[in-house]
Amino acid sequence: MAYGAGVRALDGVSLSVSEGEILAITGPSGSGKSTLLNIMGTLDRPTSGTVEVNGVDVSRLTDREVAAVRARNLGFVFQQFHLTDGLTAAENVATGLLYAGVSRRRRPLLAREALARVGLAHRTGHRPAMLSGGERQRVAIARALVNEPALLLADEPTGALDTTNGAAILGLFHRLHAEGTTIALITHDRAIAAQLPRRVEILDGRIVTDTRIGHPA
Ligand code: ADP
Repeated sequence: MAYGAGVRALDGVSLSVSEGEILAITGPSGSGKSTLLNIMGTLDRPTSGTVEVNGVDVSRLTDREVAAVRARNLGFVFQQFHLTDGLTAAENVATGLLYAGVSRRRRPLLAREALARVGLAHRTGHRPAMLSGGERQRVAIARALVNEPALLLADEPTGALDTTNGAAILGLFHRLHAEGTTIALITHDRAIAAQLPRRVEILDGRIVTDTRIGHPA
């Protein structure tokens, strides 16, 4: 992936994530983590190379078709929760279903179920301003999950939280993984990466290690 003025943010990267995995993508600031997430998430197109989501080569699709693949298969969680202030927790989560072909009538039910999965069954009617940082991130996670994505992509999801809330969010990712969710977690925090069974380390736009517990690269 090259940005204008010759910045080569990713170079020769080949990465495959299988169903049911949880992995950390690590590396220092500027190493290319967010660029990789944007490409894995079909938010950006690589300058060369291909991206396959659930067996579909998205490099051959129009932007509109890519958006449909993204809506059906991918969920996103960011450091800054990106919730809409004027909507309740349940309404925020339901926005994750807007492009998923789910009827308007079913959306509130699915949103409440997703909030229950992240431990927020008692906060469905709260607006973001009435929630703690950790709760806001749970709402964002519920929104990413509500459509049962094939892959959940999380970019520094604990970066804006204190240690306790960060640990709780990490615990939630572990539980969701145990329940079958496939998760790629981007972090510069080695302590977080150390807790995950697969770690992909990026440096200067290249994958330098890809280690699985019990299976060194
Ligand atoms: P990380 O997420 O690991 O901090 P990034 O993927 O954001 O790294 O950045 C990788 C490299 O690409 C850096 O050198 C960065 O300055 C550059 N870069 C990122 N986004 C852009 C952009 N939109 N335009 C130009 N260069 C960019």
